Amino acid sequence: MGDTSQAQDTVVAIVGGGLGGVCTAVGLSRAGYTIHVFEKAASFAELGAGLSIGPNSMRALELLGLGSIFEAIAKISELNPLWFRVLDGRDGTHVTDLPSNVNIHFSSLVKKVENMQTANGAYARLAIERREHGQNPSRSEPDFFVASVVVGCDGIKSVVRESLGEQCGGRVRYTGTYMYRGLINMDDAVAAIGERARISTQRMGFDRQMSAIPIDGGKTLSVTAYVSDRSRDPDLREWGPTSWIVPGSTEEMLASFEDFGEDAKTLLKLVKKADKWALHELVPPERWTVGRVTLLGDAAHAGQPFNGQGVGQAFEDAYVLAELLALPECTPANVERFLLAYEDIRKDRSRVQQVTSREGGEIFQYCGPMGRDRAAIARVLRDRFDWLWMYDLTMDVELAKAKLKLAGVIV
Ligand SMILES: Cc1cc2nc3c(=O)[nH]c(=O)nc-3n(C[C@H](O)[C@H](O)[C@H](O)COP(=O)(O)OP(=O)(O)OC[C@H]3O[C@@H](n4cnc5c(N)ncnc54)[C@H](O)[C@@H]3O)c2cc1C
Repeated sequence: MGDTSQAQDTVVAIVGGGLGGVCTAVGLSRAGYTIHVFEKAASFAELGAGLSIGPNSMRALELLGLGSIFEAIAKISELNPLWFRVLDGRDGTHVTDLPSNVNIHFSSLVKKVENMQTANGAYARLAIERREHGQNPSRSEPDFFVASVVVGCDGIKSVVRESLGEQCGGRVRYTGTYMYRGLINMDDAVAAIGERARISTQRMGFDRQMSAIPIDGGKTLSVTAYVSDRSRDPDLREWGPTSWIVPGSTEEMLASFEDFGEDAKTLLKLVKKADKWALHELVPPERWTVGRVTLLGDAAHAGQPFNGQGVGQAFEDAYVLAELLALPECTPANVERFLLAYEDIRKDRSRVQQVTSREGGEIFQYCGPMGRDRAAIARVLRDRFDWLWMYDLTMDVELAKAKLKLAGVIV
């Protein structure tokens, strides 16, 4: 908004203070908006997670103005020499190396972000009542919050998306894959398999996959072991238990990876608590925006993790949304047009990302078109991520602006 006082008077409620929500808060507060973040966790530190992010994600952070102050939201580790060394799970054959990514650890340092309130530990209990701009809300409960714009950054199980009902669509479905996840002390890993434990690896197997990624400045090895069942149509795959995380056992996990090589099995034995995490994805919603409520990050396009892009896409969304809402023509009365422009420009890329990420899992689990042909897999992986990593995000903004201009919304 060009008029700073108008922007300051415009309250944006951000539901969910994950990385997507925090970056959106940064972007919109820089555009002058008054921001309220509702985060159900008691503190941002609880949200800590080791993630790797690609060059496009770094670029989006820079564009958001967080380039030189990454420490404002996350601990950034040194650049990994490799994103992954890709190996055959059974015999350890080297298939290919995928180039560098950066590991981040979202941390309590988020408090340093300007205008950022601390997480309040309160659930946003969503009973959204949408009123036209200028109409007074009919409800007056003490905890009823009035905002001009709501951005749902509340992840795959988004209550904001749910509140949009049939107009929005979007269905969460089980992918047929569950994961065992664990953290291993790097010293223990090195004692067990030697210095090669320090290399970030992706081990491939039929319907199985295991990644081992050094995080926390190389002090910890994050291990994820995927087990998939693709025997049913994607829409018929069911995760039986009500909870997405259920207890598992080391024996059961090892049995699933019995045909993997010694290094892999030795690392798996070091995983202390072998819980199973069901991997779900979001069937793309018809709409992200209804009135002055929109979705961002996993709430809009949660996919499978095999492109390492979930957070990067949320950063990109946050930048584009903030740039469009910062345009001088954007006012509380017409902000919906700008939210729709954001949705329109971001939808295709995030959908293609979801599809190619699912296909990435198929490739890593020998179920892609190349099957077990490791030379063909190496060839495909070499430039498979270029379209994601080498993206000019500023073009999204320019294109959205051009469309708004054509529609006569901006001059
Ligand atoms: C195994 C695995 C590995 C992954 N690896 C990578 C990777 O290497 N790189 C990468 O980029 N991505 C990766 N991802 C994906 C990434 O974790 C997500 O895409 C990303 O965290 C989405 O961020 P978000 O802010 O949109 O949502 P979330 O991180 O889910 O944040 C949502 C926030 O909303 C809060 N919340 C929810 N409901 C409410 C409510 N009612 N009221 C208040 N607060 C609420 C939650 O507490 C949470 O803090 C991986 C995912 C998985 C499962």
